[in-house]
Amino acid sequence: METMIHSRIGFDRLQALKQRLEKRETCTFMEYAAWIGRSSIIGSMMEGGINPCLRGSLRGNTATNGACNKELLDIGTEALKKFLLAVPLSLSTHVVQRVVDMRVLEPVQRSVCAICDKESSPDDLLCYGTPCFHLFCETCFWKDLLARIFLPSTTKVVICPVCSIQESPSCSMTRSDPQTCCKESLDLYLSLPSGSKDIQTAKKGKGKIRDDTYASESWSIAVAPSLGYTQAVRRDKFFTHVERGSFHFVKGCIDRGIDLNLRNEYGQTALFISAWYGYLEIVQLLLQSGADPSVACNAGITPWQVAKRCNHQQIRDLLAECSCGSFTFHEEVFPKPLSFELLTLIDTTVDHPGAGSFFIDRAIDNTVADKLVELWQMLPVVESLTKKAMGKPCSVRSYFCDSLGWISNLLADALNQTLEDKEICVFPHMRYLCYRDKGICLARHVDLNRQHPCQNIRSTHSFLLYLFDCDEGGETTLLQDLSRDEIALTSVKPRKSRLLCFPHACPHKGEETVDLPKLLIRGEVSIV
Ligand SMILES: [Zn+2]
Ligand SMILES: [Zn+2]
Ligand SMILES: [Zn+2]
Repeated sequence: METMIHSRIGFDRLQALKQRLEKRETCTFMEYAAWIGRSSIIGSMMEGGINPCLRGSLRGNTATNGACNKELLDIGTEALKKFLLAVPLSLSTHVVQRVVDMRVLEPVQRSVCAICDKESSPDDLLCYGTPCFHLFCETCFWKDLLARIFLPSTTKVVICPVCSIQESPSCSMTRSDPQTCCKESLDLYLSLPSGSKDIQTAKKGKGKIRDDTYASESWSIAVAPSLGYTQAVRRDKFFTHVERGSFHFVKGCIDRGIDLNLRNEYGQTALFISAWYGYLEIVQLLLQSGADPSVACNAGITPWQVAKRCNHQQIRDLLAECSCGSFTFHEEVFPKPLSFELLTLIDTTVDHPGAGSFFIDRAIDNTVADKLVELWQMLPVVESLTKKAMGKPCSVRSYFCDSLGWISNLLADALNQTLEDKEICVFPHMRYLCYRDKGICLARHVDLNRQHPCQNIRSTHSFLLYLFDCDEGGETTLLQDLSRDEIALTSVKPRKSRLLCFPHACPHKGEETVDLPKLLIRGEVSIV
């Protein structure tokens, strides 16, 4: 056994391991893995849900033998959750490795935590080591780490919690001027292979991964491997991390190459999304890195406008006042329908996934519907390439994100007045569907729900807001089930300003189009 370990970890480590084992009554597998330097095992154990705060006890320390520190284990559970959710594994692994190294191996004379001043058992103590040799309890260490780890100013993650109180964290974002930074990042991004076909050449020459690459001590190194090696992947990662507000990942993308003014299918830039969701630090980072604040989304809305509408005061002040003004909706006052009439399609008491389906006629004023057609005309059109390649006529989409609440507020109004005692939330991401050809139908299916971008809710219903009348064809039919028989429960004609709403799980299909065009806005709403 000893020779086997010797050949794997070398003589010095083996000696140290022997000493540690002699001083310990018990040790955990995770501690053992750290002692023999197997970072990959620590990482795997954390992924498997092992609490990193579980620790063995010193020999002869009978006071706490067998007992465990409940507070410490709780904070370990919390840390593990946060780590698995938002911290690169190599960084989490490094933290655990350092913690295991800091666990004291000798009974200490005055074992008082320098942070909470409480007398601690040696089995709960950590010693930072060189240069300060501060002593603190492990609970205090984890509390400090969790409070600091996600801060934008944190680069090196494990630092002495006693010393860190004394030195105030300074924002170390010294970079070149915004234009240079933007250009450098763009050049790096463009040097990446564009798609997955080129990935083979990009990864060539990568040798076997050494075990120490499974642990990295700073955010900037730890995030690097997860940011993608092609432009396509990098782009997706960038938008995902911007939406999640993961500062260090966004910074990683900028450091390793990104086009800062990329736009998603709604035409929104990273700066737009951060300004909308209220991510102040990311807005600052993007501006310092040269992102252009004047780039508007598909509907002509600027980051400044969306920050203003969401009352993100500090962000608003950072962004120069710029509103494109090519399309104004918010400033116009439309007549609101005086009363709404709801027509139930499938009663709520019926045992069917479509129970609670309904439509509202004149849910919006017809002048609003005309304005929405005008808005549609300025949006870019996305055609389904696969269906087109198969020679099938199909609908075309245009993506619209209602970040200023133009449509959402009107629809919420109509829904609130017709549905009693219901909590309504109209989701901002919408798409226009336009059927320009005859004979287009939509096969039977059910819809998917969606997570709200800024609130912790999921959608429950699909809605279709028709913008033109179709006297013949193009009906939406709600079905008994998804079987081939296609037993129709009810069929709804496209009527200008009609709002159709049904639970996502309700089977439905689109009938063949005859009268053209059939134009509608499709979106999600939560009705609970
Ligand atoms: Zn303490
Ligand atoms: Zn210290
Ligand atoms: Zn559908």
